[in-house]
Amino acid sequence: MKLICKLLSVLLCGFLLAGCAPKSESRTFFAMDTVMNLTVCGEEGLLDDLQTRVQTLEKHLSVTDPQSEIYALNQNGSTRLSDDTRELLELALGFCRATDGALDITIYPALCVWGFTTDSYQVPDDDTLAALRETIDYTAVTLDGETASIPEGVMVDLGAVAKGYTALVLTRMLADAGVESALLDLGGNIQAIGENPEGRPWGVAVQDPFGEGYLGVLSVTDRAVVTSGGYERNFEQNGVIYHHILDPDTAAPADSGLCAVTVVGENGLTCDALSTALYVMGKDAALDFWRSREDFECILVEPNGAVTVTEGLQDCFRAHVDAVTVAERG
Ligand code: ADP
Ligand code: MG
Repeated sequence: MKLICKLLSVLLCGFLLAGCAPKSESRTFFAMDTVMNLTVCGEEGLLDDLQTRVQTLEKHLSVTDPQSEIYALNQNGSTRLSDDTRELLELALGFCRATDGALDITIYPALCVWGFTTDSYQVPDDDTLAALRETIDYTAVTLDGETASIPEGVMVDLGAVAKGYTALVLTRMLADAGVESALLDLGGNIQAIGENPEGRPWGVAVQDPFGEGYLGVLSVTDRAVVTSGGYERNFEQNGVIYHHILDPDTAAPADSGLCAVTVVGENGLTCDALSTALYVMGKDAALDFWRSREDFECILVEPNGAVTVTEGLQDCFRAHVDAVTVAERG
């Protein structure tokens, strides 16, 4: 189901790209557990390097690949990191602090017990949840030069930020190559570089969490658009739906009154980290957090269909639904 949605979004991007100038190249491949589609306009021959870079990052960052650095950290309690992994770990810890732990990269033991890592789902009992809460503590992760360390029982998972960091790295590569127009779809994490080849903003559709359609379309230039949704991975037991975004305070799926969060900003990593974190915070705290910063805008969706759009998106979001409220800064 998730794969079908990703493929549909790739097809939609293809549709939005219709009219891309002749000198454009696209490639679709599977990496980081999702379908990715890269389109580069105006420069040829870059796709091999971009895809190889994604695959190298995946090899370093995967929490399940026994060859990865994160796997080694979780197994041995301490490991030397490559430059990429060290940079991402440092930046991710910064977002854990900035969001007061709504983002917590040590959520992995809880994710495993709920079964989100294996698809063999279960609802843990209260004692198990209490024990899991003890293992969630990003402040226990230490970085000393190139060496990362964690205490016994703690495990690191960069799943909430890996695609955002990948977007950042590919954006730097494209800038170095002088590319002025590109669209990177890293499984729903979109990075729009420059304008489209027709000299207009890129159109990026925002998925409707309640169905197969779209909430609306964002017109963006040099922006990342990242969505976290409880609908992306979940299971149902006794009529309750449990999803894969966990609240570090409870070790259970975040029950914050939001069902999807889209974050728009220049930096793909910031957007990825914050889409997960704002989902955990809930609407009021998410809007307070937005007012305290200048580096992103967001769209918040509630289960009753209410949509809140921050004022910076007012002119670039064409909603396909009613019930849209604009949040103001002042
Ligand atoms: P996706 O990767 O599914 O597009 P997200 O960027 O929101 O969506 O990341 C969700 C993933 O992040 C989960 O699958 C899990 O690995 C991890 N995760 C879940 N809750 C948290 C949290 N509160 N803090 C950090 N990571 C989380
Ligand atoms: Mg995220």
